[in-house]
Amino acid sequence: MTRYSVFAVAREGLRHHQGWGRAWRSPEPQKRYDTIIIGAGGHGLATAYYLGKNHGIRNVAIIEKGWLGGGNTGRNTTIIRSNYLQDASAAIYEKARSLYETLSQELNYNVMFSPRGVMMLAQTQHEVRGYKRTVQANLLQGVTTEWIEPARVQELVPIISISGPRYPVLGAIWQPRAGTARHDAVAWGYARACSEMGMDIIQNCEVTGIDLDGDRVTGVQTTKGAIACDRMGIVVAGHSGLLANMAGFRLPVESVALQALVSEPIKPCLDVVVMANTVHGYLSQSDKGEMVIGGGADGFNNYTQRGSFHHVEETVRALVETFPMISRLRMLRQWGGIVDMTGDRSAIISKTPVRGCFINCGWGTGGFKSIPGSGWAMAELMAKGEPGPLAAPFSLSRFREGQFIDESVAAGVAH
Ligand SMILES: Cc1cc2nc3c(=O)[nH]c(=O)nc-3n(C[C@H](O)[C@H](O)[C@H](O)COP(=O)(O)OP(=O)(O)OC[C@H]3O[C@@H](n4cnc5c(N)ncnc54)[C@H](O)[C@@H]3O)c2cc1C
Repeated sequence: MTRYSVFAVAREGLRHHQGWGRAWRSPEPQKRYDTIIIGAGGHGLATAYYLGKNHGIRNVAIIEKGWLGGGNTGRNTTIIRSNYLQDASAAIYEKARSLYETLSQELNYNVMFSPRGVMMLAQTQHEVRGYKRTVQANLLQGVTTEWIEPARVQELVPIISISGPRYPVLGAIWQPRAGTARHDAVAWGYARACSEMGMDIIQNCEVTGIDLDGDRVTGVQTTKGAIACDRMGIVVAGHSGLLANMAGFRLPVESVALQALVSEPIKPCLDVVVMANTVHGYLSQSDKGEMVIGGGADGFNNYTQRGSFHHVEETVRALVETFPMISRLRMLRQWGGIVDMTGDRSAIISKTPVRGCFINCGWGTGGFKSIPGSGWAMAELMAKGEPGPLAAPFSLSRFREGQFIDESVAAGVAH
C-alpha cells in the first residue's frame, strides 16, 4: 500500500496521478473469521484496528450494511473534548483525545485533528456552579480545562453577544486542547490501516441474523451468506437494540434521530467551538467556511435517518440570541443520524449474556470524540475476554447494580 507523504504527492504529480492505489480492499466474505465486527463506523473500525495493532488479532472481518463511515460517524458535528464530570468518562474521553493528537501520524492519514479549543457557555447561575465543579473534577482527573470570565469569552469569540437579553454569558468552561477532526477521514484512516493488516471490510452486507450454539455465538447470517466466527463485536450505534434482539438479549438503550445543519460558506469568523447549553445549540466553522450547527434530538424514538424543518427553526431561533449574525445566514443543508441513548448518558462496552459476543454502544449524541479510546478499550475486552480499566465501569451490569455513570449534565446540549 502506498505510503502517503510529500514525496508520494510530488511523484504522483509528475506522473499525472496514475499511480495511486485503492485505500482499502473490497473483498467478498470468507466462510469463517476468528473475529467479526458488525458495523464499520468509527468505533467498529477502531476496535478492529486496535485488535490488530495491540493484540495481534488480524483474522478479522468488519461487516457493514451500507458504506463505511456512512452512519453517525459521517454525520456528526465532529466535536472532540474530554471535560466530562465522572472519573470513568474523563479517563476514556481523555485517552481518546490524546490518541487523536497523533492519529494522523499513526495512521499515515490526515484526519485533520484541529485542537482549536472548545468552550461551553454558562448562561445561568446553575451552569456557573456546575461548570466550576467540572473544572475542579477535571483538575483531579488530569484533564486540562479552565473557567474563563465573560471578557475572555468575548475575546475568543468576537461574534458572540455576551449581554443577551434573556441569557447573558456569565463565563465558560474552556478546554484549549479540545477541538474537531474530519469525521469521515477518521473512518477512512482506520479502514485503510485495517485493510493493510489483512482484515476484510465487507460493505453493502447487512447482518440479518446471529447464529448461536446454546449460549455461544458461532456466526452471522448476512445478505452475502452465512459467515462463521469465534468472537463477535456488535458496534452499530442506533441499531444496537435490533442486533441485540437477534442475539436474544435486550439493551437499556433508546434510538432517536439527532440532527445538525450547515450554513452557506462565509469568511472565517469563528476559530473555536462554542456550545450554548441553555439556549440549546452549538457551532463551529468548517474549513470550507460553513457554520456547522448542532441541534437537539427528536423527542420520540425513531429510525428516520434524516432532518426535519422544525429542528432547523428551533435551533437557529435559539442561537440567534447569543450569535446575532446567524440571522443573516442562509442554511445550506440538514441531516440526521440515529443515536443510541442510555439512561445515564454513558456508553456500554461490555460482555453480553451470549458467550463470545461483545457490545459497544450507547455513545448517544457524543461518541465521535471517543472513537480511538473506545476502540482501544473494546479491543482489549474482546482480546482478553475481560474488560481493562478503561472499559470496566461501562459494563452492562451497571444498570442492574445501579452503578450509573451519570453524565446527563456534562453531556451538554448534545455532546
Ligand atoms: C447530528 C449528529 C451530531 C453529532 N455530533 C457529535 C459531535 O459533535 N461530537 C461527538 O463526539 N459525537 C457526535 N455525534 C455522535 C457520534 O456521531 C456517534 O456517537 C458516533 O459516530 C457513533 O459511531 P459508531 O461507530 O458507534 O456508529 P456509526 O458510525 O453509526 O456506525 C455503525 C454502523 O453500523 C452499521 N450497521 C447497522 N446495522 C447493521 C447491520 N444489521 N449489519 C451491518 N451493519 C450495520 C451502520 O450502517 C453504521 O455504518 C453526533 C451524532 C449525530 C447524529
